[in-house]
Amino acid sequence: MRILIVGAGIAGLAARRALANRGFSVSLVERNRNAGEGGAGLFLPGNGVRAISDLGLRDEFFRKSHAVNSQRFYDERGRLLTDVDATAYWKDVAQCRAIRRSDLWQLLAVDAGEIEYRQIVDIVNSDQGCRVLFNDGKIGDFDLVIAADGINSAVRGMTFAKAARPEYVGNVCWRFIVPSTCQIDEWSVMLGADRSLLGKPISETELYLYADISVDAGATDKFNHATPLLPLFEEIAGPLLPALRHSSEVTVHYGELMRLRLDDWYQDQVVLIGDAAHAAPPSMAQGACLAMEDALVLAEELSAKSSIEGALTSYQARQKVRADWVHKQCAIRDKMRRLPPAVRNGLLRFAGGAIYRRSYSLLKRPL
Ligand SMILES: Cc1cc2nc3c(=O)[nH]c(=O)nc-3n(C[C@H](O)[C@H](O)[C@H](O)COP(=O)(O)OP(=O)(O)OC[C@H]3O[C@@H](n4cnc5c(N)ncnc54)[C@H](O)[C@@H]3O)c2cc1C
Repeated sequence: MRILIVGAGIAGLAARRALANRGFSVSLVERNRNAGEGGAGLFLPGNGVRAISDLGLRDEFFRKSHAVNSQRFYDERGRLLTDVDATAYWKDVAQCRAIRRSDLWQLLAVDAGEIEYRQIVDIVNSDQGCRVLFNDGKIGDFDLVIAADGINSAVRGMTFAKAARPEYVGNVCWRFIVPSTCQIDEWSVMLGADRSLLGKPISETELYLYADISVDAGATDKFNHATPLLPLFEEIAGPLLPALRHSSEVTVHYGELMRLRLDDWYQDQVVLIGDAAHAAPPSMAQGACLAMEDALVLAEELSAKSSIEGALTSYQARQKVRADWVHKQCAIRDKMRRLPPAVRNGLLRFAGGAIYRRSYSLLKRPL
């Protein structure tokens, strides 16, 4: 079977590996020579770590990542609301971990074969296969094109005429890695009325910080990667304040939070995976996790089914229920965050653990 993967992000690299593990040979194209850089850190709840293990990368991943044993939620005055024992909750799946995104990219790229740095200009997609035109003038014929080219997928734009478009969810965010100069040794979030600041160690000496704030759609142009973060977050920073002070000295990644909800993930011989299919805001920390799960399930179905269409139908049926769940839980979390602080704090203080456990329950199930 001639397979082309478009995009060497987490989804594309994981798909390349999952397919190679099942004996498929694939071509992988990427438009950006610096694709492995950026993105700061990633928190991977147990299902994401299970996916990495299923890709055959467990030992090296554990060497490069940092354990997350607790998830602690604090109010706007630094009072602890909930301390979730993540290790106990995920014990039947895998330990939660945090890692530098570029380290995860390198890990997935190992043995990934040649990444061809070029772009797709056009696709003619039919039930007979795909004819792909690249920007260097070359033409390729494939039985299956896997679009792993992110939330603004060009392949989706070329082949899914009526697909929904990504929508802004009402928050902008900043991400960066600083030296560990504060006492935070576990995943810890400080919740303000319209903003939050989250810190998590990604190694013995480094802390990954994520900061977000609610902003109306028309006002996002007031913010960018150079926005001074101390004035926006110092009031809620609590124990993260010493780390926040380093924000002006390091590379900061800025973005508007988006979501993408589609009815269908495949069309003839083109299939979407990762953010190209189901990008969600990071409230559940599931984007990279689901991207790797998609890769594993798609590879499994392609090797088990006698037709590509049968494989794509099963892939969508199995993974869409998980992605839809994540979208729903993100919406619930985002709604809860916008409650008046006294109500939200009361909920988290008395039912935070139960809310957390419920929100991840479906994702603990085997793929
Ligand atoms: C603020 C924030 C925090 C997050 N935190 C977490 C977290 O803690 N845990 C977690 O699991 N997830 C998290 N996520 C989600 C996660 O980062 C994404 O879901 C994941 O990286 C998606 O991977 P992907 O490979 O689908 O897409 P991408 O990472 O966007 O990769 C797409 C690749 O395709 C390439 N490409 C694009 N167009 C073309 C083209 N035309 N031709 C060739 N190549 C192309 C791009 O250059 C890129 O390399 C977070 C997301 C955000 C926004």
